Amino acid sequence: MNRSSELFRKAQKYLPGGVNSPVRAFKSVNRDPLFIASGAGSKIRDVDGNEYIDYVGSWGPLILGHAHPEVVEYLQSVTESGTSFGAPTELEILIAEKIVQMVPSVEMVRMVNSGTEATMSAIRLARGFTGRDKIIKFEGCYHGHGDSFLIKAGSGALTFGEPNSPGVPAALAKETLTAGFNDLDSVERLFESFKNQIAAVIVEPIAGNMGVIPPADGFLQGLRDLCTQNGALLIFDEVMTGFRVHAGGAQSLYNVQPDLTTMGKVIGGGLPAAAYGGKREIMEMVSPAGAVYQAGTLSGNPLAMAAGLKTLEIISRPGFFEKLNKKANWFFSELAHYVENQNFPLSLNYVNSMGCLFFKPGEVRNFNEATQSDTELFARYFGGMLDKGIYLAPSQFEAMFISAAHSEEDLQNTLHAGREVLEKLFK
Ligand code: PMP
Repeated sequence: MNRSSELFRKAQKYLPGGVNSPVRAFKSVNRDPLFIASGAGSKIRDVDGNEYIDYVGSWGPLILGHAHPEVVEYLQSVTESGTSFGAPTELEILIAEKIVQMVPSVEMVRMVNSGTEATMSAIRLARGFTGRDKIIKFEGCYHGHGDSFLIKAGSGALTFGEPNSPGVPAALAKETLTAGFNDLDSVERLFESFKNQIAAVIVEPIAGNMGVIPPADGFLQGLRDLCTQNGALLIFDEVMTGFRVHAGGAQSLYNVQPDLTTMGKVIGGGLPAAAYGGKREIMEMVSPAGAVYQAGTLSGNPLAMAAGLKTLEIISRPGFFEKLNKKANWFFSELAHYVENQNFPLSLNYVNSMGCLFFKPGEVRNFNEATQSDTELFARYFGGMLDKGIYLAPSQFEAMFISAAHSEEDLQNTLHAGREVLEKLFK
């Protein structure tokens, strides 16, 4: 037995399912997970010494790749001055200023420790601000594991067939209404049925937790208009898309301004940091400026702020996104052409450096279409790629991420491996 599998046996004794977050367990792809020893640039190395080109990137944060020298150096220097104070530090202002400069709709931010905290806090704030209780979310969108969001949720909840988790009180679940992604009519109907009761619509502007599904033309603007007409707040959950598809997030790419934005992943540069932010008038309701309570012992932690700030600085440099997006779009369009020319029953969705190959023919525009994918076939593809040294997310319903560290050679090798694995699957 290899060392990863040995460790997995041991881990299962002490950690539920052997992991600290479900999809990591590789359960839906019928393999033992790899235990990772180290990462550098585009590559990770497991405890058995095997090297992989990594397209998980810690599930999105590592837009610069692993152990970026400037991030590591800055982190080291900040660490020497102490790891946590629970008191204000200048770094917190610097990162807040940077976020406000980068994200068009954000005038003030509150730093938190995870995307889950960001979305939970954002809906509490929306409820406090509007004095209403109901929220609308979209089928297959994932907003972390807060009680209000584990209703028809994506990501691990979808992978394990538990989009509605036990343990969520029915009284709370009934406050979450669900609409269809890319289906404005379904949102309009909810606003009609629940007049003056809806505090907020929360959406992943590019759905990234049921595979990758871009918004249809006019969908995001339509949500903006419906929220404005009905006195509800529009929340973009940009935990995945923020600082990823564009320096200013999906809201900059599609030019639609939400009232509140949740951010995570890239914002922490690989350390635990996330944030929610938006219009000053709304954010000033957050404690201690206002009455909506939200707090955190480690919020604004200096190490997380340092890794995040350095990462945001690097991605703000001239040409960063042009270069990354060009490379990613080249890769995905090569893959798309290949799949199309071979007539394989597959469908590729991508937006700049995030993409997903669905194991089903025809377009994927919503949850229904995404869940028609053949997850068994995906599992075989995943295993084939892993055996060729390509580390993809171990679920059909997750995105693959291209980072600035992926070289042309990495991408060529990945295309080559992909062709071999797909040909074996379909021929
Ligand atoms: N929102 C979105 C859009 C996400 O993709 C995720 C995590 N994948 C979350 C929220 C939750 O973030 P975290 O895992 O940091 O709690």
